[in-house]
Amino acid sequence: MSTHAPPHAPHGPGVTRSVTLPATLDEAVAALTAMPAAIPVAGGTDLMAAVNAGQLRPAALVGLGRISEIRGWEYQDGHGILGAGLTHARMGRPDFAALFPALAAAARAAGPPQTRNAGTLGGNVVTAAPAGDTLPVLAALEATLIVAGPGGSRREMPVSQLLSGREMLRPGEVVGHLRVPLLHAPQTFLKATGRTGPSRATASAAVVLDPARRGVRCAIGAVAPMPLRPLEAEQWVASLIDWSAVRVRGAVALAPEALSAFGEYVAMACIPDSEADPDTGQAPALPPAVQHLRRTVAALARRALGRALA
Ligand SMILES: Cc1cc2nc3c(=O)[nH]c(=O)nc-3n(C[C@H](O)[C@H](O)[C@H](O)COP(=O)(O)OP(=O)(O)OC[C@H]3O[C@@H](n4cnc5c(N)ncnc54)[C@H](O)[C@@H]3O)c2cc1C
Repeated sequence: MSTHAPPHAPHGPGVTRSVTLPATLDEAVAALTAMPAAIPVAGGTDLMAAVNAGQLRPAALVGLGRISEIRGWEYQDGHGILGAGLTHARMGRPDFAALFPALAAAARAAGPPQTRNAGTLGGNVVTAAPAGDTLPVLAALEATLIVAGPGGSRREMPVSQLLSGREMLRPGEVVGHLRVPLLHAPQTFLKATGRTGPSRATASAAVVLDPARRGVRCAIGAVAPMPLRPLEAEQWVASLIDWSAVRVRGAVALAPEALSAFGEYVAMACIPDSEADPDTGQAPALPPAVQHLRRTVAALARRALGRALA
């Protein structure tokens, strides 16, 4: 492990005094435990934006960029064990996309090239921004986090628990890996933005098929603080799919009307109507911008499932 103090840095309050560069996960945990005010930094794309905006003044940083054990992936018991240090650029490459197509599509959509070269999977998850592109995919895949803690400990938690704030990282803990099922089945990710070119999602949709269980898993991103799973719509549409026709050339796995109805069902579940007025019993109309967002969600969900089935 190496530690650098900026040579001419003034040591006043609110100034970063040291940057530690551990070579292993356990060294990173030890450094964070020894310096409770220190913050881990991976690609720095979110963290430095917060520093530059004056929202954060870390007293010390523990850089994760030299930890080789979290920069790749391996297979274990039908799962992919993905390093938290995988960059978006790396996840976008064809070998990764062949195994985790929706995650690769999300990584390719996550900002401009310089951001994708530095930004990591772990950083995307821990920042937990509503528009984080990998988050709906991880929610649909029902991924879990493998967290490294003091004394060489490892614990797992569903990604959804961290995103919903039900479970937090404890002092000294670092996300080391993510456990993602290898389904060998169609998976899609689609994203809508407010303008052309790389930008944050206004809405996104991930669809994962699980033919072995005859299941459809869908998650909608960016319309709420965390990805939303329309569970009833998933179960309803899974019962209508002709699973023997999925990805069979010339076959129709799902009637077009059912596909459209799935989009509407998902959109209604994620963006429900306003509450009815207790006096009149009437629900006020949704504002035009919200109606537009609902139509966007319906289109994304319909197209994402349509592409997964075709
Ligand atoms: C111009 C620009 C455009 C962007 N566009 C998009 C976009 O379209 N879609 C999108 O999803 N994101 C976008 N982002 C956000 C950003 O690139 C991603 O969230 C990125 O994945 C963050 O990863 P990082 O490695 O840079 O995280 P960092 O900035 O290094 O860290 C972010 C947070 O996570 C913590 N952290 C990082 N790694 C770990 C770990 N292993 N264990 C524990 N804590 C950890 C840090 O302490 C910090 O709190 C954009 C950013 C920029 C600057």
